[in-house]
Amino acid sequence: MRDGDLQARLTHAIRHEQLTLSYQPIVSLTSGRPSGAEALARWNDEELGPVSPDVFIPVAERSGLVHELGRWVLREACLEAMRWSTDPGGPSVSVNVSPVQLARSDVIRQVADALTESGLAPARLCLEITETAAVVDLDETSVRLSRLRDLGVRVALDDFGTGFSSLTMLRRLPLDQVKIDRSFVAGLHENAQDSVVVRLAVEAAHLLGHTVCAEGVETVEQVRELVAIGCDTAQGWFFGKPTSDSREFIELADRLTRTDFGSTFVADPAQASGTPDLVTALSPEGLIRYASSSVVAVLGLRPEDLVGQAVNDLTHPGDSFDPRSSVGRSADGTVVGRVRHADGGYRWLSSSVHELRDGSGRIREYVATSRDITTLIETQQELEAVEERFRGAFDGAPIGMALSDLTGRILRVNDALAALIGHHPRDLVGMTVDDITWPEDRTADAENLDRLATQQEQAHRVRKRYLTKDGVPVPVEVWAATIQGGDETPQLVVAHVMPVRDELLTPGRVVDHRPEAGPGR
Ligand code: C2E
Ligand code: MG
Ligand code: MG
Repeated sequence: MRDGDLQARLTHAIRHEQLTLSYQPIVSLTSGRPSGAEALARWNDEELGPVSPDVFIPVAERSGLVHELGRWVLREACLEAMRWSTDPGGPSVSVNVSPVQLARSDVIRQVADALTESGLAPARLCLEITETAAVVDLDETSVRLSRLRDLGVRVALDDFGTGFSSLTMLRRLPLDQVKIDRSFVAGLHENAQDSVVVRLAVEAAHLLGHTVCAEGVETVEQVRELVAIGCDTAQGWFFGKPTSDSREFIELADRLTRTDFGSTFVADPAQASGTPDLVTALSPEGLIRYASSSVVAVLGLRPEDLVGQAVNDLTHPGDSFDPRSSVGRSADGTVVGRVRHADGGYRWLSSSVHELRDGSGRIREYVATSRDITTLIETQQELEAVEERFRGAFDGAPIGMALSDLTGRILRVNDALAALIGHHPRDLVGMTVDDITWPEDRTADAENLDRLATQQEQAHRVRKRYLTKDGVPVPVEVWAATIQGGDETPQLVVAHVMPVRDELLTPGRVVDHRPEAGPGR
C-alpha cells in the first residue's frame, strides 16, 4: 500500500478513535514488583489487519499526524493510569514521545493538559524519547526536556545504545532514566561483549544519577545477569507481553506482585551484617543450576561444588525437599531444613522458594533464598527444654496451680489443685473458673478477674471458696497474675492456690493487689 493510502487510513483511524493502547509491565528488580507500565500504540485496521507501530509511527511522523496521535496517547495513558490507582505514589505510565512531536514547543502544553485533565500526579508519568530526537538539535531538545521535567514528569532515553551518539546524549540531556535497547539484552547471557556494554551502560547511567531499565527481557538468565549488574527495572516477554486488556494487565501485575521473585535475588540489606543470604536456582526436577558465592560462608562449599547436584543429596535424610510439592512448606513458601556443611555437620536453613514462570505460566525454575538459622533453632530447642521443665514443675508443684484465659476458661490445672477439688486434671480443662467457684463467691470472683483483664491490676491475692465435684466448699487463698503476650497485653492468668483454714476466710476480699505481689510471700 502506498504511503498516501496508509496515511489516509491512519488519519481516519485517529479521528475515529480506532487506535488502542497496550500496556507492558515494567518490573522493579530490587523489589520484584511491577513499578509501572509502558503504553504502546496499536492499530488494527479493518482491511489491513494489525499494523505494527514500526510501520505506522513513521507514516504519522512524515505526515505530521503524530502530533494528533501523540496528544491522544498522552491523554489516554494518563487516564488509564488513574484507573489503576488514584494514589500519587501509584504505578507509573511510560509514554513514547516521537522526535517530531518533541521538535514542536506545544508538546509541553500537551503534557500539561493530559495531566490536568486526568488528575494524574506528574511523577507517575514518564516520557520516553529516542536518541534520534536529540540529534536534530541537542540544545533545543535539552531545554525542552528541562521544561517538561519542571512539570514534574520523568524523562527516559529509549533504545539506548542504538544511536550514533549515545554517550553524548547521556551526558548532555536532562534525564531520569536510561532504557537499554533489547538488542543488547538479547545477547546478555551468551555474548560477552553485550554483557560488557550493558554493564558499562548501567555504570555510566548510575554515575550520572539515572536509573536503568532493560528492555526485551525474555529469559531467566537475562534477569539474573541484570540483577547481578545492578539494573533497576526491566521489561519484556519474560514478565509479560503488552496487553490491551486493562483487567489482564492488573491481573498480571497482581500475579507478579505475589510472585515477588525480585527479592530472591537481592540480599536483605538488614542482613548484611550476619551470614549472607544464599541464593540458589533449581531446575523443576530439583537440580541445582546456580549457587551464589555466599555458599562459601554458609556451607563452606564453592558454588561449583553445588552446581549439578540434586538438592536432596545435600539435605538431611529427615528433611527431604521437593520443590514441586508444597509438603513442608509454610503458607508464605518458606521451607526449613538441615543442609550438609563442609565440616561434616548440618546447618539449619530457612529458605523462601519462589517459582519463576515464563510468559505462558510454565515453571522455568525455582529460586531459593536461604538463611542460616542454626543459632535460632538451637535457642528454640533450648526454650522448649525450659518449657518442658516448667511444665514438669507446674504439674508436679505441691501447691495448686491453674492457667486460664481472660474469660476464665481453664487451660491447664495441676494434680494438686485437681485433688483439692476432687476432679481429674483432664476434666477441668475447658471448664470455667466459675464452674469450680462456690456460687456465693462468683460475683466477687468475676469482678476480680475483670480487673486483671482490663489491666487495672497485674496481680492480686484473694480468698474465696472453690466448689468440689461433690458440691462442698473449699476455702482457699489464690494468688493470680496475668501473663502478657508478645504485644504486651494480658493474655492468660496463672493462679497459685493454697487451702486455708475456714476461720481465716472472708470470701471475695482482695487482700493484696500490688502488681508485683508474688505467691511466695
Ligand atoms: P519501544 O518504545 O522500544 O517499545 C518496546 C517494543 O519492544 C514494543 O514493540 C514491544 O512490544 C517490544 N517488546 C517488548 N518486550 C519484548 C521482548 O521481550 N522481546 C521482543 N523481541 N520485543 C519486545 P512495539 O509495540 O512494536 O513498538 C515498537 C516501537 O514503536 C516502540 O519501541 C516505540 O518506539 C514505537 N511506539 C509504540 N507506540 C508508540 C506511541 O504511542 N508513540 C510513539 N511515538 N511511538 C510508539
Ligand atoms: Mg519505549
Ligand atoms: Mg525501546
